[in-house]
Amino acid sequence: LVVVDHLCKSFEDGEVLNNVSLTIREGDLVSVIGPSGCGKSTFLRCLNCLEIMDSGSLTVCGLTLTRTGQEKGYDRRTLDTAHEIRKEVGMVFQSFTLFPHKTVLENVMLAPRVVKGEPPEQAEDNAVRLLKKVGLGDFIRRYPSTLSGGQTQRAAIARALAMNPRVMLYDEPTSALDPELVGEVLQVMRDLDGEGMTQIIVTHEMRFARDASDYIVFMDRGEIVELDDGDVLFTSPKNDRTREFLRHLV
Ligand code: ATP
Ligand code: MG
Repeated sequence: LVVVDHLCKSFEDGEVLNNVSLTIREGDLVSVIGPSGCGKSTFLRCLNCLEIMDSGSLTVCGLTLTRTGQEKGYDRRTLDTAHEIRKEVGMVFQSFTLFPHKTVLENVMLAPRVVKGEPPEQAEDNAVRLLKKVGLGDFIRRYPSTLSGGQTQRAAIARALAMNPRVMLYDEPTSALDPELVGEVLQVMRDLDGEGMTQIIVTHEMRFARDASDYIVFMDRGEIVELDDGDVLFTSPKNDRTREFLRHLV
């Protein structure tokens, strides 16, 4: 469903992603781990075209974006494809990004109404259904400031789902939460996995990564160093850099 081929991305300060290749099948739950600054967030941002790679190719749901690295700027077709890809991808960030002056229900309804032009009744029915799914059926009239961090993140997931994405990306969705609230957010991802959603999660929750993922991607210095089944990666990593990273966790 997602194919990344030799993706490279640099900023002014230098190369951040170096020849990253990865294939993700429909229904996979993939965890991405790695040290701070290794390029995890940039990788996710490239996947949903918040950043456009310098060179390489990216295919999401049959939409392919290719760059040779020789282009100056972005042509029309690249921007159009990036826009189409973005519609297939939902994203949840670490810090809470709900609109504070709107209720939870309005937050979830907003993008379908404004971007897709869904009729209000349809957007509302769908939003209520999604909020029930993430366990917020009793909170739809609340304002974000009255929610716990875990509830806020679950609302953010419902809001991303409202656009009916084929792929969900999460950038450290539980890092800003109190420990007792982490589980409820991870549970939503497990539930979605059970329904066959394709999900890519940058996380420091190693237990979740190990237990819930189909496989784990370990990144270091802009490269995918190792990709393995969680049990294999944690018990017998093949690469010295993976071993070193895991050693510092405990
Ligand atoms: P963390 O675990 O701390 O979130 P990360 O693995 O997500 O780290 P990135 O945020 O992808 O790392 O950043 C990788 C590198 O790219 C860093 O050196 C960062 O300073 C640089 N970088 C990221 N975004 C930009 C940008 N918009 N402009 C310039 N440099 C950037
Ligand atoms: Mg990051």
